[in-house]
Amino acid sequence: MILIGLGANLDGIYGSPEQCLQACSELLADAGVYIVQSSNIWKSAPVPVSDQPWYCNAVCAVETMLVPQQLLCALATIENDTGRERHEVNAARVLDLDILAYNNEIINEQHLTIPHPAMHERAFVLYPMQEIAPHWVHPQLDKSVDEMIVDIPKGQQIKRIENSQLLSTYVDKQAILS
Ligand code: ADP
Ligand code: MG
Repeated sequence: MILIGLGANLDGIYGSPEQCLQACSELLADAGVYIVQSSNIWKSAPVPVSDQPWYCNAVCAVETMLVPQQLLCALATIENDTGRERHEVNAARVLDLDILAYNNEIINEQHLTIPHPAMHERAFVLYPMQEIAPHWVHPQLDKSVDEMIVDIPKGQQIKRIENSQLLSTYVDKQAILS
């Protein structure tokens, strides 16, 4: 299972943060990354706590022929095309696309760490992820999403926007043929 985390808290060329996440269905598909299943969009307070606007977050399971390094490049290109500017760490952004997991692979390269190093302590990753992959097991921690949620550091405010899943773009060829 390949899982991508999406986040946004500034208006940009696609409109509000929520509209930007919705636009990602097509932007990802254009790059050969197809959404199989999406969580709802969740609103979350910035981590670490700051006076930035709240974030919109979602997690999507995707299908792609891209290997992890190619996928990272494709995601960075989409971020840049939406007008993402890179200032300091944890700065507000029009779009953040992170590879949370790539099947069971463990990668520790200079520019790519998989599973994403902070995923297990972030409510805005784990709650959306629980909607679509509750039984996915972290290959290093050997814990499922349900188990990691129990250990989330306290004080992270988050709430779900009902019926806000991103559009799926994956067409199951087997299903069409049968
Ligand atoms: P963050 O997402 O942690 O807030 P950025 O989006 O600015 O920070 O990403 C900083 C760098 O993190 C990227 O240039 C990228 O090379 C690196 N990175 C390492 N592992 C990953 C990953 N799994 N997914 C996305 N980016 C990653
Ligand atoms: Mg990122």
